[in-house]
Amino acid sequence: MSVSNPDRDGWEASEDETSLLTSGPVQDDRAADAALRPRRMAEFVGQPRVRDQLSLLLEAAKLHGRTPDHVLLSGPPGLGKTTLAMIIAAELGAPIRVASGPAIQHAGDLASILSGLADGEVLFLDEVHRLARPAEEMLYLAMEDFRVDVVVGKGPGATVIPLALPRFTLVGATTRAGLLTGPLRDRFGFTAHLDFYSHDDLVTVLRRSADLLGIKLDENGAAEIAGRSRGTPRIANRLLRRVRDYAVVRADGRLDRTVAQEALAVYDVDELGLDRLDRQVLSALCGRYRGGPVGLSTIAVAVGEEPGTVEEVSEPFLVREGLLVRTPRGRVATPAAFAHLGMSTPVEGGAPTLDLEIPGTPGPSVD
Ligand code: ADP
Repeated sequence: MSVSNPDRDGWEASEDETSLLTSGPVQDDRAADAALRPRRMAEFVGQPRVRDQLSLLLEAAKLHGRTPDHVLLSGPPGLGKTTLAMIIAAELGAPIRVASGPAIQHAGDLASILSGLADGEVLFLDEVHRLARPAEEMLYLAMEDFRVDVVVGKGPGATVIPLALPRFTLVGATTRAGLLTGPLRDRFGFTAHLDFYSHDDLVTVLRRSADLLGIKLDENGAAEIAGRSRGTPRIANRLLRRVRDYAVVRADGRLDRTVAQEALAVYDVDELGLDRLDRQVLSALCGRYRGGPVGLSTIAVAVGEEPGTVEEVSEPFLVREGLLVRTPRGRVATPAAFAHLGMSTPVEGGAPTLDLEIPGTPGPSVD
């Protein structure tokens, strides 16, 4: 099995970044994620609809003494998909096995995972949209009939040996539900989409994490960190750890609003949750290009980054915050972007726009 896969998508690309605001896990997150992960449904903060629906599904399955339907969890990284998969297993009192789509290159890899499952076990398949096609096709039968057909030999002499599987619950997670094939999506009996967290929910996440880490975090300090966490618990926890470091070294361990502000200024995270690259992108767009429209690759050259990094790491959040708009002619800054940078919006038609672009990329181009 190998984890290399050129078919990287936007969310996953960000996992390679070491930015403080990356929503995928970076190296020092993995242990911290595990330590701070809620273990039971009652501890899981926010997402009330998903929590209610999942609780019902699990309760009903337990009442009838059967395994619950397969569950698909979709949403951006860091919102709690892995956490929920583990909670599902804990609530069922079942063991859990964890695997990831890109690591399953061959149907045989999947067959060996499936045949090794215990009865009632939960199989968590992360990035399920990145399963190799033969493995995905094997999964159809496994999900529906709890059986796989193992092909032995090749050509006309090949024989198919059906292999019965224990009953299991598949919990699939995806950051790109749109990339899931219809037949796979249809085989999940329950689908839940996780949304970004509200400010209040992030405050609750932070206070819970602070308790677990033994940090004295006051309400205002929590609010300050929550406001810069991009609606994502994983980012909130990461910022909390960095702010704690600062508090210990520079503020006798005290963690209030002022200390949080000072710490996050050191780490270049502004009050909206933008980091240095985000602000460079906005500054180029609003300053040199007077708000655009301007093409992606021009912006990338202006900030000294790869177009892919700007597009996948920076832009999604800028778009979500209403600071940047992607148009057929290129990227355009909104009045909110100018306001955030403390600049006045250029008067309509009054400012020349530079339609410079490198050919072959979206946006206006020079022939
Ligand atoms: P995903 O699998 O969607 O990338 P994870 O489940 O790994 O995200 O969540 C990342 C971290 O964020 C977890 O370790 C946990 O500490 C925290 N977290 C996520 N969702 C919640 C939640 N609803 N309540 C509290 N903490 C959460």
